[in-house]
Amino acid sequence: MSYQTDTVCIHGQGSREAIESTGAISFPIYQTAAYAHPAVGQSTGYDYNRVQNPTRKELERIVTDLEHGLDTIAFATGMAAVNAFMELFAPGDHVVATDDLYGGVIRQFRKVNEKNGMEFTYVDTSNLDAVEAAIRENTKLIYIETPTNPMMLVTDLRAVSEIAARHNCLLAVDNTFLTPYFQNPLDLGADVVIHSATKYLGGHNDTLGGFLVTNHAEIADKIREMVKTTGACLAPFDAWLILRGIKTLSVRMEKHQENALAIAKWLKSHPKVEEVFYVGLEDHTGHDIVQRQCRGYGGMLTFHVDSQETAYSVLERIKLIQFAESLGGTESLMTYPFTQTHADVPDEKRRANGIDERTLRMSVGIENVRDLIADLEQALG
Ligand SMILES: *Cc1c(COP(=O)(O)O)cnc(C)c1O
Repeated sequence: MSYQTDTVCIHGQGSREAIESTGAISFPIYQTAAYAHPAVGQSTGYDYNRVQNPTRKELERIVTDLEHGLDTIAFATGMAAVNAFMELFAPGDHVVATDDLYGGVIRQFRKVNEKNGMEFTYVDTSNLDAVEAAIRENTKLIYIETPTNPMMLVTDLRAVSEIAARHNCLLAVDNTFLTPYFQNPLDLGADVVIHSATKYLGGHNDTLGGFLVTNHAEIADKIREMVKTTGACLAPFDAWLILRGIKTLSVRMEKHQENALAIAKWLKSHPKVEEVFYVGLEDHTGHDIVQRQCRGYGGMLTFHVDSQETAYSVLERIKLIQFAESLGGTESLMTYPFTQTHADVPDEKRRANGIDERTLRMSVGIENVRDLIADLEQALG
């Protein structure tokens, strides 16, 4: 028998490791750096915290079960997970990546991996022909974000996984936006799933974390070796915060989505709003694929207002919704991709991707939607 996703958020599929006998319902925080050995040549299974910690291990178990993987490695941040993953590749290796990626990932590729001799081609991965055309002899990885940030472009994961398999390369998918509650890339043929747990999994805007989930034992072994070597492991208290956050993932995601859909519809009818990008809207370009490959639409939306002045005044006037980067928490946040998340992207590229002075991105929180709409109404003026 296997449990449903909302049960797995709380218990996982199996039972937790019996490392203490108090019956504590909440998994204890093992705030220790090292572990005593019973005798020479023996270990309790725990030796040093960079390698493993019971609280972190419990969190990894839950995330593995949620993503239908074989193993999960928890990191101090999402970027640490991406950084460790990219160490699996060598100079001369080529990567095809979504061109609308999270800015920090583009920075990792440019400043670290390109410097070390890797090559990258960025394409609109919602266009399968473009993905196929970008593949070369030395392509080792296809790296996807779906839906993308901020334009919400959707990639057909099953189709891209077939391209990856045909060309003998790995498929990695950043599943931060939809979370395993709504999307399971490994089931659709991905080899690796990346998460910024800072966002929906933690869910409360109070800690950073990252995951790499895989269904290949060799990849998991190499990544464990990498985190042991380079050290960006998740701290015990942060592991506990994310473990607690995930317990309510199902109710939060349902409410994020319900609020986002209501706000997307309301924005569409506002005279100062020109376009709304939300994968839950029927006229969204990726709606059909999302219906096929996901169980929901999430809580992220982007919209174009009629002018830069309107965008600025919205950001100045919002009260309940806060003008801040990041996403995925209980609090609603709004960002201005043009000067914030996508400030480093060349102007021509930004505009080609549809990001300009009128673009606003909202991470819809779980406040009462009437209060959120009232705030947007007064802010739009
Ligand atoms: C935030 C984010 C990251 C990076 O994660 P951190 O926890 O901030 O290091 C990667 N991918 C996406 C889609 C993100 O939103």
